[in-house]
Amino acid sequence: MNENKIIYDLIIIGGGPAGITAGIYGARQKLNTLLITKSFGGQVARKAVAIENYPGLEEISGLELIKKFEKHLRKQKIDIERDEVVKLKKIGRKFLALTKSKNRFEARAVIIATGADPRHLEVPGEKKFIGRGVSYCAVCDQSLFGDKTIAVIGGGNAGFEAAISLTNYAKKIYILEYGEKVGADEINQERVKKTGKIELITNAVLKQIKGKEFVNSLIYQDRKTKKEIKLPVDGIFVEIGSQPATSFVKGLVDFNEKDEIKINPRTNQTKIPGLFAAGDITEIKDKQIVIAAGEGAKAALSVYGYLQSRK
Ligand SMILES: Cc1cc2nc3c(=O)[nH]c(=O)nc-3n(C[C@H](O)[C@H](O)[C@H](O)COP(=O)(O)OP(=O)(O)OC[C@H]3O[C@@H](n4cnc5c(N)ncnc54)[C@H](O)[C@@H]3O)c2cc1C
Repeated sequence: MNENKIIYDLIIIGGGPAGITAGIYGARQKLNTLLITKSFGGQVARKAVAIENYPGLEEISGLELIKKFEKHLRKQKIDIERDEVVKLKKIGRKFLALTKSKNRFEARAVIIATGADPRHLEVPGEKKFIGRGVSYCAVCDQSLFGDKTIAVIGGGNAGFEAAISLTNYAKKIYILEYGEKVGADEINQERVKKTGKIELITNAVLKQIKGKEFVNSLIYQDRKTKKEIKLPVDGIFVEIGSQPATSFVKGLVDFNEKDEIKINPRTNQTKIPGLFAAGDITEIKDKQIVIAAGEGAKAALSVYGYLQSRK
């Protein structure tokens, strides 16, 4: 275990829009700040089609936007660690973050900005074929599926956008939706129709993913006829939503029924003084890049106020 002797003013956990913005604001308030993140970009890096709702940037890819965020962050006086926080503890008036690489970092205040991880299907075969046909990120893995047949699981905007993006590579794409109707916006539904490569299957319950070394088929049940149908596919992209990345703070903060962290919406502080949270990890209603960034800024300014009040 590596002991880091510095006691930071602020540790930010997470390198998505909320964490990066908190980092920029924290550094500009001259807080001695450390940002720890598994990766940069968070969910923005998974965005398969252009982002069209970030003010000032009419149309930009997720990867490009996050590169701009990261470049802006790295211009600040801030320490950055690429690591995963596996446990956060409160010891006296300080916080201790323990990481997967067995590092220990201490701070007077913490902002949790760990967002959400893709939700898994929890069907037989899923775990076995992760990285061998099962993917949770179209933008990351789609180029591996040139001329292949793909199933996208989930008929929301994320599923539709992943399918549209996959048409640049795959020859045929199915979208499997559990419900009678899809949740995707009209505009995405129209875009999907125009491709001529995407087939929508509704009322489909995924039962199993099959293959040898790589995925070669899936089994779904038609909810109306109760029949089980085998669909030959080479890849499966899972787009059934996200779940908050909260495992490392269990027992420390309060959660709502969706496992999101409860905060004071004015200050972003959790029930623990000095422990703040921002972005998709919190119970804020709308999950968007611009909102997460704003919440990150709010949280960092609240940390500044909190630390000033304790001087
Ligand atoms: C497919 C898709 C498309 C989207 N499209 C749009 C769009 O067009 N416009 C829009 O405004 N919003 C869009 N969103 C929503 C937007 O991406 C999120 O609201 C936003 O990314 C939330 O930012 P965040 O910083 O709170 O969390 P995240 O983006 O989830 O970032 C969390 C960060 O924390 C890190 N992390 C997690 N756990 C740990 C840990 N234990 N230790 C260290 N680091 C950790 C992760 O690696 C990640 O970098 C989309 C989301 C998805 C999934």
